[in-house]
Amino acid sequence: MASPLPAVHDTPDPDFAELLARRPHLKAHVLDGLVMDDVPLVQIAQRVGTPTWVYSAATLRRRYGALRDALAEAGLRASIHFAAKANDSLAVLRVIAAEGAGADVVSEGELRAARAAGIPAGRIVFSGVGKTEREIALALEEGILQINAESAEEVERISAVASAMGRVAPVSLRINPDVDARTHAKISTGLAENKFGIAYTDAAALYARMASLPGIRPIGLAVHIGSQITEGMAGYRAAYARVAELAQALMGRGLPVERLDCGGGLGIPYRDELPPSPAALAGAIKATLGPLGLPVMLEPGRWIAGPAGVLLSSVVLQKRGQNRRFVVLDAAMNDLVRPAMYDAWHGILPLAPDLLHAPLSPADVVGPVCESGDTFTRGRALPDLPPGALVAFLDAGAYGATMSSTYNARPLAAEVLVDGHRWAVTRPRQTHEALLANQLVPDWLGATA
Ligand SMILES: *Cc1c(COP(=O)(O)O)cnc(C)c1O
Repeated sequence: MASPLPAVHDTPDPDFAELLARRPHLKAHVLDGLVMDDVPLVQIAQRVGTPTWVYSAATLRRRYGALRDALAEAGLRASIHFAAKANDSLAVLRVIAAEGAGADVVSEGELRAARAAGIPAGRIVFSGVGKTEREIALALEEGILQINAESAEEVERISAVASAMGRVAPVSLRINPDVDARTHAKISTGLAENKFGIAYTDAAALYARMASLPGIRPIGLAVHIGSQITEGMAGYRAAYARVAELAQALMGRGLPVERLDCGGGLGIPYRDELPPSPAALAGAIKATLGPLGLPVMLEPGRWIAGPAGVLLSSVVLQKRGQNRRFVVLDAAMNDLVRPAMYDAWHGILPLAPDLLHAPLSPADVVGPVCESGDTFTRGRALPDLPPGALVAFLDAGAYGATMSSTYNARPLAAEVLVDGHRWAVTRPRQTHEALLANQLVPDWLGATA
């Protein structure tokens, strides 16, 4: 089988100092090495083991606040609904909930997690292309803020479920604006070829139908064009302009439109990207949707949580191949799948103070999983990393733990929240016993031991 090709970059990788300069919650301390807020990461790795996800509460708060402030400064009446699929840790959701955030959920599990973290149902949006009747019923029972419907079939289903319950479902229509967000194909959602949303040309008729159906209160329109959007505001502007035009047309026909959902997708710098700022996003919303004077909603996931997290890992061994150095870690693609799935680049920093200043040479950083795709990076400038050396993958706070699996019968990694000088395990490492515990062997196969 051919080896996966390394992602091609035409600029040099940022060095350790450049990576740190853009991440205010991380510092290289002379004695303690890499420190998150006031906690040396070596201390967490030694006490909890590796691989371990570590999240900075201060960073979650700071980034949520920056988004909220940018929207307020643009003069928008806006609410923020954190996309729980980016990070559904109860502790992380709790930190964001305490700031006043709502949530955007795409499953019963995420709805339950958001509620368990103290996010009121009245601040939760239910998105996704395939909500089951059970999920719709649970959302209505909880008193959800709104359900974003993605098809005519789903609108009928919501109407039927709500009517049978004697409820009225608040429903927005997710529009597929057919615009190119210019992001990775696997995380682009706003093109007509993608499975998401209702074709722009069908939306007005469906909205009118919604207004006539029992059990449905039409709330407005929603749009989400993709994730990790870094290439300017053109895609956003085009999508919001279409939403504005459609909302105007609906209101012109006397149909009620209460608010508009602008989705998420704002990108973050993993390597040297220069994504649009929250102010630029707020400006684009203001310019396109502002004239309608309606409240707007935002569903950011990655932008809030991505930079707030790291994945700590230990070096199992360094393998000298034919003119290549392989650093084999105890973290793998089952923990952090983004490099294998999206060719994603993550900064990798050693934790020990001396290793942050040691001579560098190229290394391929890999996990122990039996797949060539279990390669985090190739040719990365890293110091000599002997067995037991500790490293941190940067910007692993979004689509990290939530996308992990137990492939190769590897238990789920532990999770830790850092809050100033305090830190706590928020999810203990899964045990091998737990990994086997809920399996059953039919008795006709005979005793197992
Ligand atoms: C995934 C998703 C989001 C969040 O996307 P980010 O890129 O993490 O901001 C928001 N809304 C919907 C409907 C989504 O599917």
